[in-house]
Amino acid sequence: MRQPLVAGNWKMNGSLASAKALVEGIKAGMGAISTAEMAVCPPYVYIPRVAELLAGSAIGLGAQDLSDQAAGAYTGEVAADMLTDIGCKYVIVGHSERRNIYGESDAFTAGKFVAARKAGLVPILCVGELLEEREQGVTEQVVGRQLDAIIALDGAAAFGSAVIAYEPVWAIGTGKTATPDQAQEVHAFIRGKLAALDAAVAGQVQILYGGSMNPGNAAELLAMPDIDGGLIGGAALKPADFLAIGKAANA
Ligand code: PEP
Repeated sequence: MRQPLVAGNWKMNGSLASAKALVEGIKAGMGAISTAEMAVCPPYVYIPRVAELLAGSAIGLGAQDLSDQAAGAYTGEVAADMLTDIGCKYVIVGHSERRNIYGESDAFTAGKFVAARKAGLVPILCVGELLEEREQGVTEQVVGRQLDAIIALDGAAAFGSAVIAYEPVWAIGTGKTATPDQAQEVHAFIRGKLAALDAAVAGQVQILYGGSMNPGNAAELLAMPDIDGGLIGGAALKPADFLAIGKAANA
């Protein structure tokens, strides 16, 4: 039985004051969450303050990115060990905004994934196709290629201590959600690909859906057999919406 995980990606939003209000709002509603693990991924600079506010709660803490390097002369970068040092459990790796806005390649993303695991962080590896790739019918090739880069560098067993998020790029921040069947098809493909290499790991790895998940569509997505939670952008900035998605995972 895979525990659902509902993780909020706050992206580059908010302030010290709004981060506090958001955490307090989520904490106040946690009594209604019985099954899912909830986690938040604030901007780097707010992580230490959020860690203080989360102390004693069951809410997980993560970062949105990390360096592929361990330490040294890498101006502007943040190392995996620094994230564990300030209390992170998770780190998002290979979000489509890193891949597509900042041009981060599959190989570079794989380096970050390895760096995260070496430091004891749980990477949340994002994979997903662009709209034109879906229209060309190459979704599985794209997602397969993104996974292969990780498998080549770290092996399939690495997913025993990682999370995967399937995030169709055309659904991120657009209000367009993949249908439950569309999402399930890709989730099953991901699990099947891993199963061919390591059945135990494939059965255990949590595969989250991300892309305009909200209180209105979460239950039907989370009811699909291979959807084990959500990576939530916009709806993670509103405590009531984020908690409603967590509650939808209770069933
Ligand atoms: C995301 O950026 O990971 C995401 C899923 O965003 P949204 O929920 O806003 O589509």
